[in-house]
Amino acid sequence: MPTTVLVGAQWGDEGKGKIIDVLAKDADYVVRYQGGNNAGHTVVVGSEEIILHLIPSGILHKEKICVIGNGVVIDPEALLKEMAYVEKKGISINGNLLISEQAHVIFPYHKILDKLREEHFRKTKIGTTGRGIGPCYTDKFARMGIRMADLLNRRVLKEKLETNLEEKNAIFRKVFRHPEFSFADLYARYLRYGRKIKPFLCDCTAVLNQAVAAGKRILFEGAQGTFLDIDHGTYPFVTSSNATAGGACVGSGVGPTRIGTVIGVVKAYTTRVGEGPFPTEFPPRLMDEVRRRGKEFGATTGRPRRCGWFDAVLVRQAAAVNGLDSIAVTKLDVLDHLQTLKICVAYKYRGRRYEQFPADLDALWNAKPVYEEMPGWMQSTAAVRSFDDLPPNARRYLRRLEELVRTRMQIVSIGSERNQTLFL
Ligand code: GDP
Repeated sequence: MPTTVLVGAQWGDEGKGKIIDVLAKDADYVVRYQGGNNAGHTVVVGSEEIILHLIPSGILHKEKICVIGNGVVIDPEALLKEMAYVEKKGISINGNLLISEQAHVIFPYHKILDKLREEHFRKTKIGTTGRGIGPCYTDKFARMGIRMADLLNRRVLKEKLETNLEEKNAIFRKVFRHPEFSFADLYARYLRYGRKIKPFLCDCTAVLNQAVAAGKRILFEGAQGTFLDIDHGTYPFVTSSNATAGGACVGSGVGPTRIGTVIGVVKAYTTRVGEGPFPTEFPPRLMDEVRRRGKEFGATTGRPRRCGWFDAVLVRQAAAVNGLDSIAVTKLDVLDHLQTLKICVAYKYRGRRYEQFPADLDALWNAKPVYEEMPGWMQSTAAVRSFDDLPPNARRYLRRLEELVRTRMQIVSIGSERNQTLFL
């Protein structure tokens, strides 16, 4: 079946952007289904590095229809900026970018709330990107949210914005002692955004279901990763949407029986941004080295990422919750120079061995990884063009990962260029 969901199987930043870019070549539609401009996909085309936060990476291929689904939350200002950025790079968005009328809209008060909550309640600091994503989803679930279609209706927007400001301004005043927001200013600004974005708005659920019926090839691109999923991640250190494969259905209106394949992207090691437990985190020296070689700094915030060994317990869990059919392993080249590699095969907690990912966060905070060691290959893989030409120890390492996560390996990436991709 021609619909594929691609998800991050760790804590995000697995290199999904590159794999989506490679797979998008064979797709007709590329769909974002959750998150907002807290995501950051980096795609390298020739000497150009293009960073996208909201627009699906498929936009880099002409004639692909790119869809921002209902499950995404949109900051219109960021969206318009990104549209201008993409056009400046010579990429057309007219006719090939569609935005769901049902997607919820981020307002400046969401962004301020995001920052104030992080600053104010330091004990529960999540390490968010401060883009207002969480507070926007909060409003969505509180049934107070404002959707893209509302920006086209003066009366509806007025009513909803007034109600929201009544509540938000009281919070700003009483809890945070922060200046209030003016209705007139926001109302005028968001009506203007609505006029600008109107040509791109549509009923994406209808468009996508027609595409499915017509046998079109659809690629759903997940943002963030499995362990940042609001339900299946390391709660509360998670994002505020469903980054797992199920989110593709909810966030686009395409039903589960219409999904063909689910691919999980994993790094050949592990990284995570922000706070939260991370059992296989490297000691400082190795951390610096891998971070430098892997350029492990956030595409959205520039924050240094925490790095660690590959955690098979984590990815096995990801295989289960996403129903992974296969994995794509990225950034193998970053490990090229290491003499010995470790893989976490289980956790030890209170004298017990855990093969399965613990739901109890306290167990994860205190889990001691059980490692298996493998010899490194100590040579560059960047120029390799087929799996069989990889150094034998690199192949052994990859095959062991595949075995431990009990999921077929389909792709190996050994660099950020399109041609540094090995298909199995
Ligand atoms: P995403 O959010 O999952 O797309 O991850 P990022 O955008 O943070 O991508 C990670 C970075 O790694 C980007 O700069 C990519 O160009 C780069 N990248 C992707 N695959 C590889 C790879 O196999 N090797 C190396 N060295 N870099 C890669």
